[in-house]
Amino acid sequence: MTTTRTWAERATALDAADPLAGLRDRFLPAPGVVAYLDGNSLGRPVADAANRLGEFIHQAWGQRLIRGWTEDGPDAPWMDWPERIGDRIAALALGAAAGQTVLADSTTVLLYKLARAAIDAAVTVDPDRRVIVAFADDFPTDRYVVEGIAAERGGSVRWLQADIAEGVTSDQVADAAGPDTALVLLSHVAYRSGWLADAPAITAAAHRAGAHVLLDLCHSAGSVPLALDEWGVDLAVGCTYKFLNGGPGSPAFAYVRRGLQGVLRQPIQGWMGRLDPFTMGPGYVPAPGIRHVVSGTPPILAAVPLLASLDLLDEAGIAAVRTKSLALTAFALELVDAWLVPHGVEVISPRDPERRGGHLTISRPGFREVVDLLWDRGVLPDYREPDAIRIGPAPLSTSFTEVHDGLAVLHNILEGTVG
Ligand SMILES: *Cc1c(COP(=O)(O)O)cnc(C)c1O
Repeated sequence: MTTTRTWAERATALDAADPLAGLRDRFLPAPGVVAYLDGNSLGRPVADAANRLGEFIHQAWGQRLIRGWTEDGPDAPWMDWPERIGDRIAALALGAAAGQTVLADSTTVLLYKLARAAIDAAVTVDPDRRVIVAFADDFPTDRYVVEGIAAERGGSVRWLQADIAEGVTSDQVADAAGPDTALVLLSHVAYRSGWLADAPAITAAAHRAGAHVLLDLCHSAGSVPLALDEWGVDLAVGCTYKFLNGGPGSPAFAYVRRGLQGVLRQPIQGWMGRLDPFTMGPGYVPAPGIRHVVSGTPPILAAVPLLASLDLLDEAGIAAVRTKSLALTAFALELVDAWLVPHGVEVISPRDPERRGGHLTISRPGFREVVDLLWDRGVLPDYREPDAIRIGPAPLSTSFTEVHDGLAVLHNILEGTVG
């Protein structure tokens, strides 16, 4: 009991010293939720998102009607949202200059578009360059997309293996990528372990082999500071519903390094990525710059909640977000070591903060059933096969006390003190 109280006091002290603590009140409350530990899968709604969505329907959509697409207004023409919001994400979270990022589609679709563009470009220059280097334990959609592209283009995927508690290193990429390699695809933060890849070194290794690099930033955007321009990353995609709190199914983003725009050509030629779409002219002529990555009508309504969340990220700053994220996962690690490891729980995530993304993965046989008990008690992490619980405390919306309370419930379940 004393130790429990000590840990609770630690949590209270950490909350009192947290410069971002005040931002938690800007999220919609969720009565009955003891601890929301799944910000890495679905961020919480910023309360203002509800107002903005209502306002958008009443004012922008309801009053401006079709004029909203093309006429200037409080939210500029909707037609410009892919680039405008893309630039905002780039500035706040990606370390990328304007003109290289668009909001569109889903991550899966953008992965396809950019990976296909990279393969097509490589094969055009050298028909023998059609291998994609990818991680065998990467997020399923990444694996499926490159398998599909390899089949389409008569190429193949060279799979990298890594220990589950670790991830892909730049040495592995250097060994695997060669003169036959068109593309290296990798998640920057591994969805399973939370391993944070060395993006600049991996990019350099891919480039030495003459290959392009495509980073999946789903678990990094809004959590880990990025410097895409500085690192020389060629291509990147990511979703906005995880640490960027855009809401279920909010649109994804794509980044194409300026030097590759006009060189790479994505395969889904649609009218919204055409030069002057409203001329409705014959034949597809790609719009200049990043715009040609857009294919069809931009998902305007689905982007509105994201605007509220980006404002919050702007207030906090990504550096402060990362500082708090590391403090949250470090505190969670301490609790796991003190409370759960004695019950046979294993830590899957890197303990080294330099290699740790925004979530902590722990494992123990039987965790599948344990997650059901946690959800019943208002503690909401997520479960990943095999036997893994992911604890993803979103820095803008999660307190140290919440992490404490959530893990205390898990501790009690493992001790058998609650049934
Ligand atoms: C969440 C996630 C996705 C999701 O792709 P969708 O097309 O939005 O379903 C893709 N890649 C990674 C690494 C993810 O974590």
